[in-house]
Amino acid sequence: MLLEVQGINVHYGKIAALKGVSLEVDEGEIVTLIGANGAGKTTTLKTISGLRPLTSGAIRFKGQDISKVPGHKRVILGIGQSPEGRGIFPGMTVLENLMMGAYARKDDVSKQLEEVFELFPRLAERKSQFGGTMSGGEQQMLTIGRALMTNPSVLLLDEPSMGLAPLLIQQIFEIIQTINARGTTVLLVEQNAQQALSIAHRAYVLETGMVVKSAPAQELLHDPAVRAAYLGGD
Ligand code: ATP
Repeated sequence: MLLEVQGINVHYGKIAALKGVSLEVDEGEIVTLIGANGAGKTTTLKTISGLRPLTSGAIRFKGQDISKVPGHKRVILGIGQSPEGRGIFPGMTVLENLMMGAYARKDDVSKQLEEVFELFPRLAERKSQFGGTMSGGEQQMLTIGRALMTNPSVLLLDEPSMGLAPLLIQQIFEIIQTINARGTTVLLVEQNAQQALSIAHRAYVLETGMVVKSAPAQELLHDPAVRAAYLGGD
């Protein structure tokens, strides 16, 4: 197993945001985490990437317990995160933003940069433009591109479709599939459960800080309770 989250508890002050969350991501998979606002999806990703400390439980990556490894070292180990709400560097150019993703690498990153530009031609066209002047959708692409520049084994994506026009949402999900097909494992958090389940292999449903269901994504797409709660469905 590439990534194992074992019964993690995470608190914000006295508030328990995650209550014993366990999940697994195998090499080559797209796994998605769905759930209502405040269910703990972002907190789960932040804890895996080391931005939030856990109170108890464990996170194992490639067999190693990384629960106490600082976030910047987890990036070097192969955990790349594309955070919610974009978080690019507005005063840096597109190219500089992308290179920030590669800052800790000592190998030649030119091939990776080419791949990112191939996935997102718009970033290539605009590589000298300041990040802050890119449109919302372009900034979303830049965030994903920057995470790819860390050469991750697993890419954590937090709401990549947030705030995007329908056509662009479709494109982003196709790009996620391409990234996965080229060998990167993906853990995807999405409000857009329908689309996320359509591209994922497996899924976990989070409710108030707990995993209440896990199943193959196709199964959840047809699960009446999931349809009623998360797919606006029939
Ligand atoms: P959304 O889909 O709305 O982004 P989410 O499933 O990602 O929600 P989280 O952001 O992980 O949920 O939040 C889980 C719980 O932790 C919520 O009750 C939230 O209010 C709380 N929480 C998150 N961040 C903080 C914080 N910095 N301080 C205090 N409480 C927080």
